[in-house]
Amino acid sequence: MTVRRDDLGQRSETVRRANLSAIVRELHINGPLSRSELVGRTGLTRTTIRALIGELVAADLASEGRAAPLGTPGRPSPLVRLNPDRAVVLALEIAVDSLAVSVVGAGGVVIQLERVDRPRGHTSVEDIVADLTDLSERVLARLPTRAAIIGVGVSVVGVVRRTDGLVSMAPNLGWRDVPLGGRLADALGIAGPVAVANDGDLGALAEVRRGAAIGADDVLFISSEVGVGGGLIVDGKPLTGAGGYGGEIGHIPVNPNGSACQCGSVGCWETEVGERALLQRAGYPPDGGRGAVDEVLLEAEAGSPSAGAALHSVGRWLGFGLAGLVNVFNPRLVVLGGLFGRIYPFVTETVERELDRRALPGPRTLVRIVPATLVVDASLLGSAKLAFEPILADPAVWVGRRDAVPELLTA
Ligand SMILES: [Zn+2]
Repeated sequence: MTVRRDDLGQRSETVRRANLSAIVRELHINGPLSRSELVGRTGLTRTTIRALIGELVAADLASEGRAAPLGTPGRPSPLVRLNPDRAVVLALEIAVDSLAVSVVGAGGVVIQLERVDRPRGHTSVEDIVADLTDLSERVLARLPTRAAIIGVGVSVVGVVRRTDGLVSMAPNLGWRDVPLGGRLADALGIAGPVAVANDGDLGALAEVRRGAAIGADDVLFISSEVGVGGGLIVDGKPLTGAGGYGGEIGHIPVNPNGSACQCGSVGCWETEVGERALLQRAGYPPDGGRGAVDEVLLEAEAGSPSAGAALHSVGRWLGFGLAGLVNVFNPRLVVLGGLFGRIYPFVTETVERELDRRALPGPRTLVRIVPATLVVDASLLGSAKLAFEPILADPAVWVGRRDAVPELLTA
């Protein structure tokens, strides 16, 4: 069999692109690395690494500096780093009570971040898109001129079809079937696709990449503001399901005689462990918001029996639901974000006891429950990660252009 010359060329180009991707991914995730570390981590030869780094440096996407000798014989290996202010992404977040915009550079460096409070409750798509556009323009005006936006990611507190950024349902915003990705692309003047994902899924990604669960392959992230969201990392990959709707753990039915849920069903897990449940049980109006939660926690600290009982009840339901999830997914870590992270110090024993009672012994002994570390910005940073994915998967698209990094922003 003969191999045609252009076939060979195509194959070597495929290999080159895959190798570039491996190098850029290592540098993005781990920060500056020496050439020898890159050899160790990617399995590529020194010659290949040198050539590809040369391409990245020529495209102004990376730079190389001298490293201090480490007391080992021979010349010190230069440190390679991605230039953080060259290829950047725009990360947006629509949360229950705030909107945020951030510019994140290669290597996960946060260059700009602005978060503004918004009143809770139903808000039109037009208003939120307009507010996010204003905020983005303000943030982008402060960017260095060499920075090129190469991706846009959005975190939204809603159920999202990942393939096209359709928000099929966002009860906290009052949205049904909103083509959010397209609406934002139009408003921002973005030439490429805008990646939209659920806030829980993105929070999970961020905690695994840079937060409480670094390096863990099987992680369950659960977070609560008003509703309860979650993200599941199974064998190192996000579990999204057939349409990207997966991971809606807040709507696992747990109580057939429970309260009505915002999703239209009855007795979902979030009706027992969400903010409204906590406030109601502590004798506060269920819509009291973050301020009322602060008061409940202060009261509990001061030894109030009603606040203590309310937290205990939420803790039991939290453990009850977690036991089922632990049995199904056998996670190494359960990371608690938002409201759960805040109440965890008060309910640690209750949750652990409930898990002891209900989870199977095998997965129970393997799992640890920890509070999230990225706290308020987890989902925003997750949306930056989402926006970086195309350049990490195929950096050659950006490297190949001698003139400039192609920008997505056309307006
Ligand atoms: Zn529900």
